Amino acid sequence: MVYNIAIDGPAGAGKSTIARLLAHTLNVAYLDTGAMYRCLGLKVIQHDININDTQQINDLLANTDIRIENNGKRQLIFLDGKDVSTDIRAHAVSNMASEVSANEQVRIAMAQKQREMAALANCVLEGREIGTYVLPNAKYKFFLTASVDIRTQRRFNQLTATGQTVDYNQLRADIILRDTKDATRPVAPLRCAEDAIKIDSSHLTIEQVIELMLTYIKE
Ligand code: C5P
Repeated sequence: MVYNIAIDGPAGAGKSTIARLLAHTLNVAYLDTGAMYRCLGLKVIQHDININDTQQINDLLANTDIRIENNGKRQLIFLDGKDVSTDIRAHAVSNMASEVSANEQVRIAMAQKQREMAALANCVLEGREIGTYVLPNAKYKFFLTASVDIRTQRRFNQLTATGQTVDYNQLRADIILRDTKDATRPVAPLRCAEDAIKIDSSHLTIEQVIELMLTYIKE
């Protein structure tokens, strides 16, 4: 019987790093669901599509192929056959991903795809609403959070390490705005599931968070 581990939480809480390492430790698949929304966000930018035009967004969705490959420790993301693993991490794409993810049809289609992937193999899925909406019956559920300053600093370090120029205060404001949008959208908002284990990673190392999760999983 296949089992799934859901890791939800706000931007910059460390979900991607932790989900990837946890999956590696447990030797199970890993799915970064944010990457799927980022792909669509990137395509909206590339095609200069009006985000409020539902018809255009739906057409775009119908003509978009997103493929995720686990390549050893790394996850490769292909948008219409092209490797966009790096392009989707651009700061502008984060904001557009959040915009596009509020569209109901987009969410329904993405969740469907995620459920299909989760049914194939034991998998760690990270996102915003995996434990509440995509896989409410996931065997393990974690909600990973951290203070807004720590989350901003982590994202700032990540972006500058890849050569992107970002203004700290602008980044902080964008993170707060993105979290607010994600948490207040009518469809499948960012929320801690009632049966999820909440972990505040503000003062924990990556290894400590993983150790804590493994303790619950082994129980
Ligand atoms: O996790 P990441 O920062 O890559 O996600 C980018 C955006 O995609 C989020 O701000 C959120 O709006 C959206 N998202 C979502 N549901 C998910 C994963 C991401 O709405 N499961």
